[in-house]
Amino acid sequence: MIPKKEIDKVLAGYENDSITIGTIGSHSALQILKGAKDEGFDTLAICTKDRAEFYKDWNFIDNVLVIGSYKDILKKNVQEKLIKDNVILIPHGSFVEYVTPKSIEEKLYTPLFGNRSVLHWESDRRKGREWFNLAGIKIPKEFSHPSEIDRIVIVKFPGAKGGRGYFLARNEGEFNKKIKGIKLTMKEKNNFTIQEYIIGTRFYLQFFYSPIIKKVELLGIDIRYESNIDGLVRIPSYLLAGYEIEPGYVVTGNIPVVVRESLLPRIMEIGNNIVGASKRLFPPGIIGPFCMETVCTEDMNFVSFEISARIVAGTNLYLQGSPYSQLLYDEPMSTGRRIAREIKMAVDIGKLAEVIY
Ligand code: ATP
Repeated sequence: MIPKKEIDKVLAGYENDSITIGTIGSHSALQILKGAKDEGFDTLAICTKDRAEFYKDWNFIDNVLVIGSYKDILKKNVQEKLIKDNVILIPHGSFVEYVTPKSIEEKLYTPLFGNRSVLHWESDRRKGREWFNLAGIKIPKEFSHPSEIDRIVIVKFPGAKGGRGYFLARNEGEFNKKIKGIKLTMKEKNNFTIQEYIIGTRFYLQFFYSPIIKKVELLGIDIRYESNIDGLVRIPSYLLAGYEIEPGYVVTGNIPVVVRESLLPRIMEIGNNIVGASKRLFPPGIIGPFCMETVCTEDMNFVSFEISARIVAGTNLYLQGSPYSQLLYDEPMSTGRRIAREIKMAVDIGKLAEVIY
């Protein structure tokens, strides 16, 4: 892990009045760079050749840097250029997936918005559980051995993109049968997590924590539209009887949602507790956007099965702000713009290093 003081040294050489906000051209890059431009920053999209024309077309993107592959962002000459141009990088889901958490932790010297220590805590399920427990957040029960399965469970594998290979089972027999049939290596198969399947309504809570104003904000809520599970519910059960169609969880879109107002106090408690626990576990804790992936059960309890500790694609719904960001800001405030606003506020009070690692 590159020590924070190394990144601070790089940042100390930056000209604060000519900062460029940059990110990899994918995922939520348009939202991030539009937001950065709205806040008065120069903007940079870093992408492969096949996407360069697409990103050049937007008037809020000042520069496009073409690299051979996304991992090339780690190359010495690329990083030297980014640092020379005072670039602050904004991580998003594809950024972390393409560059990998390990390489970001060990090889990316360019200043990154947020606290990169969080990568370690969100990618390891065991650490994630420790974090949620400390925050007093309910998590699905986990079973260490298939023989313990006594209810519907979802079986997960690490590094699964969009739930690839995930399956549901009701008992050990079903588990054994299904695990045989999935297309994963033996090593991947042996790394399963058996988790209670929570029945309820899913909510993906989009938060932002500002260390500058010391406040957790709820910027939006969405529901992921997943294939084929969300299509299966449209087929009457009598037609499905006798068929063995395994549900998949590949995200194909996002749907906006508002919750009953009476659920909001608990939602804010979840956001505040997760930030509080992160400060204790990996000081200074989580910084900027994060998303709690939850299921709300019929007794109005939230159970959370994952955290994404960065901007999530579901925020793309709210370029003009969400019903919740409108309560906080009298102007369109996307998560992308909120990131740029945080950087701007930090620069103005000479505390940029507090939002960068
Ligand atoms: P990502 O990293 O994109 O968030 P992932 O591949 O890590 O996805 P999860 O987010 O853990 O996978 O799960 C994928 C989907 O499976 C969820 O969006 C949700 O629909 C469903 N799911 C996961 N865990 C549970 C659970 N315990 N109970 C009910 N549904 C679940």
